[in-house]
Parts: sequence; structure tokens; C-alpha cells
Amino acid sequence: MSIISNRVESLAPSATLAMSQKSAELKAAGVDVINMSVGEPDFDTPDHIKEAAKRAIDENYSRYSPVPGYLSLRKAVCDKLSRENGIDFAPEQIVVGNGAKHELCNAVMALVNPGDEVIIPVPAWVSYVEMVKLAEGVPVTVSAGIESDFKISAAQLEAAITERSKVLMLNSPSNPTGSIYTYEELKALAEVLARHPEIIILADEIYEHINFVERVHSISEFEAIRDRVVIINGVSKAYAMTGWRIGYMAGPPAIAKAVTKLQGQYTSGVSSIAQKAAEAAYNGSQQCVEDMRRAFERRRDIIVELAQQIPGWRVNRPDGAFYLFPEVSGYVGKRCGDRVIESVNDYVMYLLEEAHVACVDGAAFCAPGYMRLSYATSDDNIREAMRRIREASAKLQ
Ligand code: PMP
Ligand code: GLU
Repeated sequence: MSIISNRVESLAPSATLAMSQKSAELKAAGVDVINMSVGEPDFDTPDHIKEAAKRAIDENYSRYSPVPGYLSLRKAVCDKLSRENGIDFAPEQIVVGNGAKHELCNAVMALVNPGDEVIIPVPAWVSYVEMVKLAEGVPVTVSAGIESDFKISAAQLEAAITERSKVLMLNSPSNPTGSIYTYEELKALAEVLARHPEIIILADEIYEHINFVERVHSISEFEAIRDRVVIINGVSKAYAMTGWRIGYMAGPPAIAKAVTKLQGQYTSGVSSIAQKAAEAAYNGSQQCVEDMRRAFERRRDIIVELAQQIPGWRVNRPDGAFYLFPEVSGYVGKRCGDRVIESVNDYVMYLLEEAHVACVDGAAFCAPGYMRLSYATSDDNIREAMRRIREASAKLQ
């Protein structure tokens, strides 16, 4: 019998973090690996944000912070939501946590009872299903493939709803596909949700600023369901601050209160220094966000063009985030000498060992047959990685 609880025993480890770790180990052993596994901006945190953190240390922001975050940071988040999203929130509706991951998990914990169903459009980020399992909820996945640009329809959503449905987890722009729901698509989903007032919508908008469309819309724009939407966002992706660990939830006061209670017993307020840095990110110039966005758009164009040239890959043109999610199942069954590719995971491992490029198997995102490449790396790395993948793939017969 294991000393570890069933709850944790049955949890899958994060495949994105595991693959990144593997590639770091190979790198440390001297192998020239191009890491396209983990999704994090390769830029340094902008200087004005780093300066704010240094000032916070000198000004002795060194004690426990309020459990939901400093009021000044929550006000900065409210200003951001009003300025950029046109929605008015009060600071009492904001809870700052240890990254968007923490606030998503807290929201799931605060909302889901054992047996409650949580609807998850897939492909979905690796942690969604596991968070629901931790809360003893039932993940109900709804699948959309490359032919529908990885977006579920209103009819699919309607068909997935039962009397046990409690939460919908919607991620746009999406990890792992880069797809963005248009205003019309969100409107159609909102119309379905308007008929089911018991469902809470967790809108994960962490990639909001990394988009290549005219405007990114939020499901919270629809009046009829707005009071049931919990927005999840943070500074990790927009400001290249993954290591600072600041994210937030913005939603109904009762949910913010419940999440604050949970944090009060579990984690307390998050790092005081990182909060002051995040405040500077939201209150300062937004030019850095636009500069990084442009770089990601250029890289999207590079990777799509090169990926389209790899025989056997089906590729779409992602509108946001920094991921490409090609369909690669044509390589399953091929071989190179004695080595047989029996699954996409084998193909991913083959690419790591043969091409020294680290990617992630789509199965980790509930999408077998696909794989994920993060193009949050230099233009040269992208070109070299695609060259290596093409060459290694050509050896598979
Ligand atoms: N949601 C999605 C879809 C993500 O890809 C990530 C990044 N791992 C997160 C949430 C969490 O971001 P963080 O905790 O760094 O704010
Ligand atoms: N969002 C990143 C990814 O999907 C970070 C790793 C993680 O937290 O899973 O690769």
C-alpha cells in the first residue's frame, strides 16, 4: 500500500514541466537541445518592472501581505480590466494568487463538489483535468479537432450539459492550440450558457495579450452571463514574468470570498515583492507588451511556413499564444532501422533523441494524434528546430 494519498497517487505529473525538465537535463549533459516543450516567453522581464521590485525590497515590503493581495495591486487589476476589457470590478472581486495556475485551481476547489461535472473543451492545457480530479469533480471533455480550428460549437456545448454540470473551463487564446474564439463564436456559447444559470464559467485569459487578431473578445462581454464569469489572468505571459508567480481571479464577490478563505488556510498572500512588480506592470507603459506580441507574431509566421513543408504534418494558423499544434499521426507505424514509432509519444521521443528538439505529446492535452511546439524562442532556434525535425522525420519510413 502506498503511503501517498489516493488523491495524489492518481494525479498525472505535468507533462509540459516534465518534458522541459528532461530537455534541461540533456542540455546540462552537453547536448544542444532546442526546447520547444515548455510554454514561457523567452524575453527578460522589462526593466521598469524589475526596478519596482528592487524598490519594494528597499522600502521593506517584507511582511505578510493581505491574503487576497495588496489593495493597490487589486486596484491596478481593476483599472486594467476597465481600461482594456471595459468591465467594472471592485477590488473585493479580485484575488491575487501564486500565478494563474493557483487561482484556477483555487476557483475549481471553491466551486466543485465531489461528482460535479466540469466541462472542458479539448485540446486543453495539461492541468485542467487534473485540477478537477483533485476536487473530486468529473471532467467532461468536449473535443474539437484541427478541422474546426480546435473550437467547440454551441451545439457541442449544449450536448455536454447535464443536471450535474457546474463549471465550464474556457481558454481563449488557447494553450495548446493558439486558437481564439471570435465574438460570434463566444456569443453562441453565451446563448447556451444563458439557458443554464447554474453553470459558472472559468475564463482563462492568460494569453490575452499574445494575439494576432484585431481584437480578442472575452466571454465576460455578454451581459446575460457576466455575473457567472470568473476571469483568470496574470502577468506571466504578457510581461514575461513566469517566475514571479503572480496571477489573479476576477469574479462574483461570493467566489472571491471563498477563494480568499481557501488561501487564508493554505498559502496566505503571495510574495510581497512580486506583487509590487506586478503593480508596476499593470500601471506602467504597455509598450513592452506590444513589442513582445510583435515578436511572437513574426515567429508564428516563420513556424507555420516551415511546418507546412514537413511531409505528413497537418498544420493550422494559430491566432494567438505561442504554440503550434500539428496533427502528426501519419508518423505512427513508421520506422528507422530497428526503431518503430508506435505512438505520437514515440515520435516526440524520437525527435528529442534524434533531432534534439523537445516538444510535447498532444495526448497530454487530451488530443492524441497531435503534438505541441512552443515557439517562444528565437527566430534562429525556430528555423534550426524545424530543419532538424524535417531531417529526422525524413529518416522515418
Ligand atoms: N493557463 C494556461 C492555459 C496556461 O498555459 C498557463 C501557463 N502554464 C497558466 C494558466 C498558468 O500561468 P501562471 O501560473 O504562470 O500564471
Ligand atoms: N503554460 C506553460 C506550458 O503549458 C507552463 C508549464 C505549465 O505550467 O504547465 O508549457
